[in-house]
Amino acid sequence: MLGSTGSIGTSTLDVIAASAGRFAAFLLAAHRNVEQLVEQARACRPKWVVVIDPDAATAIDASELPSGTRLAAGPEALDELMHCPEIDRVVSAIVGAAGLRSTWAALEAGKTVALANKETLVMAGPLVTELAARTGGRIVPVDSEHSAIHQALRSGTPAEVARIVLTASGGPFRQRPVETLSSVSREEALRHPTWSMGPKITIDSATMMNKALELIEARWLFGLPGEKLAVVIHPQSIVHSMVEFVDGSVVAQLSPPDMRLPIQYALAYPERLPCPAPKFDFTRNITLEFEPPDPRRFPAVCLGHEAAVRGGTCGAVLNAANEEAVRGFLEGELRFSDIAEICRRVLDEHPYSPEPSLDEVRRLDGWARQEVMKWACV
Ligand code: NAD
Ligand code: MG
Repeated sequence: MLGSTGSIGTSTLDVIAASAGRFAAFLLAAHRNVEQLVEQARACRPKWVVVIDPDAATAIDASELPSGTRLAAGPEALDELMHCPEIDRVVSAIVGAAGLRSTWAALEAGKTVALANKETLVMAGPLVTELAARTGGRIVPVDSEHSAIHQALRSGTPAEVARIVLTASGGPFRQRPVETLSSVSREEALRHPTWSMGPKITIDSATMMNKALELIEARWLFGLPGEKLAVVIHPQSIVHSMVEFVDGSVVAQLSPPDMRLPIQYALAYPERLPCPAPKFDFTRNITLEFEPPDPRRFPAVCLGHEAAVRGGTCGAVLNAANEEAVRGFLEGELRFSDIAEICRRVLDEHPYSPEPSLDEVRRLDGWARQEVMKWACV
């Protein structure tokens, strides 16, 4: 479990606890929240806990850990532990660009990765898929849209796919007057109508930058050209995404919005198991609505389409600029409407390269963050 203390991390531990011994946590890794990490270790008794921030590791009293649980600290130790033969699936649920390193290490070790950290594919899609092909590592998506597509794709061959349609809730500002989006507060943006998630992805859902990142994620995960990817707003978050086949049939995956289902799907694939997530009650009315996203309200979606079509360095630059802009918004340095606008500028001005190396990706990630900071000071 990479990122065990986050929203996906805790939902994963729920799935493990409900699995009646089918799944067991071997290693829990988190950034700084040592108190929660120790509590989790006490509940599920893993072989290892890893505190990724070495400074935070000094706050752990190893005697608080259960007997049989060992402590390690720092990203290098985590990379090394990815090679343990006892690990057969790695849940990648660190938030942001910071998740790339350990996801890379897991794939390098040839593991199957249940991937929640979309940034890994957004930043370095071609390099990551190439690595997995070389080592025999596999990626099974956890992101609910990509899990839905993964499931829907099982009803046809790749040549039969006409396009993929990603659904989006539209977040809290789907109907708010566009001209008031510059005055959105932090609290308003953090109030998501259908999903409970970590703060970064909640802001991304409000701007729909999350969908932009997911378009890029889908492009590399499913190996489809950007032109075959579409987005539709579906406020109920029940249809998690759809695949349209060449004959016009659309196959969708539906379930009440709860991440425990896609997490368990990725842990159990290719099997299906009973899941602790709630089921539909078809004795009650269920309404499904779909509408196209308005590009004036959600300019981020266009950025995602563009980056998915152009590929190369676009994903890494867009992702880093957005991470820094979201930080700026959450810390009161930027307005809500600045986020997409700044990302547009940074994306347009970056030195594009079609086939970057991992070093180039990392360098441009740093460059894009610097550019946003300049803007924030203006
Ligand atoms: P979160 O903020 O709730 O948790 C983040 C986790 O990452 C924590 O365990 C934290 O310790 C760790 N972390 C933070 N910064 C780190 C760093 N610099 N180095 C190492 N570890 C660090 O986030 P979340 O909502 O659980 O999201 C995790 C990932 O899953 C993100 O990539 C997000 O886009 C993706 N995702 C989340 C959801 C959801 O419902 N929450 C849905 C789909 C995809
Ligand atoms: Mg998603």
